[in-house]
Amino acid sequence: MHTTRYIFVTGGVTSSLGKGIVSASLAKLLQARGYKVTIQKLDPYINVDPGTLNPYEHGECYVTEDGAETDLDLGHYERFSNEPTSQANNVTTGRIYQAVIEKERRGDYLGSTVQVIPHITDEIKYRIKLLSKYKDYDFIITEIGGTVGDIESLPYIETVRQMRWEMGNLCVVIHLTLVPYLSSTGELKTKPTQHSVKTLLEQGVQPDIIVCRTEKPLNEALRNKIALFCNVSSQAVIESIDMESIYEVPLKLRDEGLDREVLRKCGLPFEGQPDLKSWEEFLYKMKNPKYSVEIGLVGKYVELKDSYKSIMESFVHAGTYNQVKVELRMIHSEFLTQENLSEKLSGLHGILVAPGFGIRGIEGKILAIHYARTRGIPFLGICLGMQCAVIEFAQNVMGLKKANSTEFDPRTPDPVIDIMEQQKKISGMGGTMRLGAYPCQLMEGSKSRNIYKVPLILERHRHRYEFNNKYLEQFEQAGMIAAGINPKENLVEIVEIPKHPWFIGVQFHPEFKSTVASPHPLFISFVEAACLHLEQNT
Ligand code: GLN
Repeated sequence: MHTTRYIFVTGGVTSSLGKGIVSASLAKLLQARGYKVTIQKLDPYINVDPGTLNPYEHGECYVTEDGAETDLDLGHYERFSNEPTSQANNVTTGRIYQAVIEKERRGDYLGSTVQVIPHITDEIKYRIKLLSKYKDYDFIITEIGGTVGDIESLPYIETVRQMRWEMGNLCVVIHLTLVPYLSSTGELKTKPTQHSVKTLLEQGVQPDIIVCRTEKPLNEALRNKIALFCNVSSQAVIESIDMESIYEVPLKLRDEGLDREVLRKCGLPFEGQPDLKSWEEFLYKMKNPKYSVEIGLVGKYVELKDSYKSIMESFVHAGTYNQVKVELRMIHSEFLTQENLSEKLSGLHGILVAPGFGIRGIEGKILAIHYARTRGIPFLGICLGMQCAVIEFAQNVMGLKKANSTEFDPRTPDPVIDIMEQQKKISGMGGTMRLGAYPCQLMEGSKSRNIYKVPLILERHRHRYEFNNKYLEQFEQAGMIAAGINPKENLVEIVEIPKHPWFIGVQFHPEFKSTVASPHPLFISFVEAACLHLEQNT
């Protein structure tokens, strides 16, 4: 039987230290040494999945091929490793309890008292090991959300303790902490790290490796001090210094020997270095752009960068591919008005209208689309952004002044965007949208067909509303065409305006499929169009 090793990544002191990036970077390093790796996130909240969460809570909801609505860290995993994740890669406390309670109701526990230990911890263990059933992974990296010491994470830490006890050196625990810098005394402080390791020890877990997030380099004395207080060797104290780009983190952690320490703990050969040649080439291009283009990102969560994480990263990939820097101008759709429109959008080389739910900020999105369409500025509309492009076109080109989506105006005389028949019967909000990868047939001769260079694509969805086919002919006569169709359901997945230099709206989310190794063709082409727009306008 194949031997799988389990690496746990816990966090101490504070949240937002970048456990996701450390986990993704480690996956990249092990992968670059030839190992098969997957990453999983365990989230201690009670929501069954993050699909029902407002982006203000935990940022973007990331969607996998199999239609799971997951934590945004899975996006980092895919972007770093170029391997798809699935529902099994993100488990929440809500899902664990749901499964245990279902079993209890079925009578599976044969009359015994159902408890956190062993029933909840067994379910967590089962979910961790489940991944090895899909593929012969050499390593499963499990990131435990939250911070050690939180009430919510107790069952997860207890599970780590048990697995460690049962499996010995097939398990490695990495603890990520903060080493804060006190500017008043000019010192880095190790006390918070000592305390968080102590908390972990109280829960029965001795970390093998301490990764220290810091803004200043750690000196030898400091490393030794952390080693001494936390019972690890000083080579297992790894510095994770703030980097300009998240894509530099794997190289930095390689230089610090994170992968080497992991392999050493597992008793595997640790000589040599991972092969990161193409990663380094990517970084070189990213850091040496020929020039910049400016793209406007119009949405209603723009004040919170995590809400559009995958879109922003897709621009990093596509910009690097084109050897340009994409500067994003974040534009709050709620505050866009006819009066301030030119001031807010002037000078942009491309405009992207973001996905979203609900009526807030719709007017602003439609104004931005009108601006891009009438001025020949490259435009990409994603999901709600595509739907708004359809509404704008109906209102201003086809003369259907009251055209709308039934999401915003259930009584509109012209529901150009409407809820799907199957969706009408659904009342629950969790996991009930059109989710995950669906095929899309590209129309011969369309811009999209030329961009993708293949006739059939698979893209990920997350929405309830659709283009209303009753209006399709009218749209095509007026100059907006359906360039991509779901072959089975005949749903319009892509709209284009052939007379415009670059105007594409997609019902799906291309941003979920862009990775460092494989930047998304739509984003590449959109950035190319923005470069051309810049050239022609200077
Ligand atoms: N609110 C729209 C729908 O449900 C768009 C969703 C989205 O942008 N992800 O169809």
